[in-house]
Amino acid sequence: MQPTASLDQNVLAQIARVRPMLSEFLTDELLETIKVPEHVAEASLVIRRDDDSLATYRAYRSRHSTARGPAKGGIRFHPMVSREEAIALSMWMSFKTAVLDLPLGGGKGGIVVDPKSLSRRELERLSRAYVRAFRHDLGPALDVPAPDVNTNGEIMAWMTDEYETLAGQSAPGSFTGKPLSIGGSLGRDRATALGWFIALSRFYERIGETLVGKTAVVQGSGNAGLTMAHLLADAGVRVIGISDSREGIHLESWLDIGTVSKIKAERRRISEYSGVLTTTNDELLEIRADILVPAAVENQIRADNADKIRAGLMVELANGPTTPEADMTLSKKGVTVIPDILANAGGVTVSYFEQVQNAMNFSWTRDEVESRLSDRMIASFDAVYDRSINAGSTLRDAALAIALERIIRAKIDRGFGW
Ligand code: GLU
Repeated sequence: MQPTASLDQNVLAQIARVRPMLSEFLTDELLETIKVPEHVAEASLVIRRDDDSLATYRAYRSRHSTARGPAKGGIRFHPMVSREEAIALSMWMSFKTAVLDLPLGGGKGGIVVDPKSLSRRELERLSRAYVRAFRHDLGPALDVPAPDVNTNGEIMAWMTDEYETLAGQSAPGSFTGKPLSIGGSLGRDRATALGWFIALSRFYERIGETLVGKTAVVQGSGNAGLTMAHLLADAGVRVIGISDSREGIHLESWLDIGTVSKIKAERRRISEYSGVLTTTNDELLEIRADILVPAAVENQIRADNADKIRAGLMVELANGPTTPEADMTLSKKGVTVIPDILANAGGVTVSYFEQVQNAMNFSWTRDEVESRLSDRMIASFDAVYDRSINAGSTLRDAALAIALERIIRAKIDRGFGW
């Protein structure tokens, strides 16, 4: 991962660029109110390691906006987590929930840690320590976390349990992405990948083309990345390149995603896939393909490599993979980008469905969840696509314009007090 100190600058640059597209009601003064988070909390978490030593980890939670509803967004465990990163990612969460028109705001948090360096029991202690430190900053009506980079359902279960223990009552709506046994939603596991796939399919439908026979390169093979690669392969797309944090692999014909998943599950190097060309992560991005999918972390497509991208379409599964400078280069080159705040919003959409089911104390079938997801994704894609056509703008600018207008409309309707 690149240093993320500039992530907050990236968000501000994106906002500045869409300024001319925004409705008249959105004054500069109002726009200023959205450039800062409502609240940022930070803490040092101390846990006892298995060898009885003490270890301290820095942790953050940024609540960017609750204008449209409780803040919503993941918690990540990663050595590069920082205050600036949490703030920027929480802003993108507010935009994402607004693009999907969910009654939610945006939040994000994380712990500065390499989770691979901890045992499972140490991870549980750390997860519970996070909730104890931020118990007053979280809750079903305030800020609701979910899985993100290097976190999963098991971690959400420990966190929910800690939260409920402190609250002295059941509160399943305090976290989403939980296991089914404690109020998780069917379909949440593959929601990010499926939502992404629905947006991609809709794009081809709108331009009168089909997915079948297209080629794709995927940077990243985490949960969402691999699930998405399976969906592509099932739809007749040839995945010709894929990577993990260490290296990439490329095959002119196509890669069998089942084999890649098996290698990853066995914790082997993906370059052990027989007959492939091994690449660096940067080289992988330069492979000629119809579809490029940044599915790893932020700041991967930058001023220094954007010009080398040879895909016609880029569909962002990661959050913030493209810098504003890179965006300009891609748009000049004629590369269409379906932006993160639209393309990867399936995860938070089904998180919202999980909250709704928790509030009703009732559960929907997988079909019900996925058909509602599909309706939301298609309606949101169409709104963004139509706005971009009308404004002659990129899809990212159109999505952001819609989001900013919705959030600021909510702020205006609430009023600003005395
Ligand atoms: N971490 C995911 C995201 O970045 C999901 C957030 C959520 O479900 O609240 O969108």
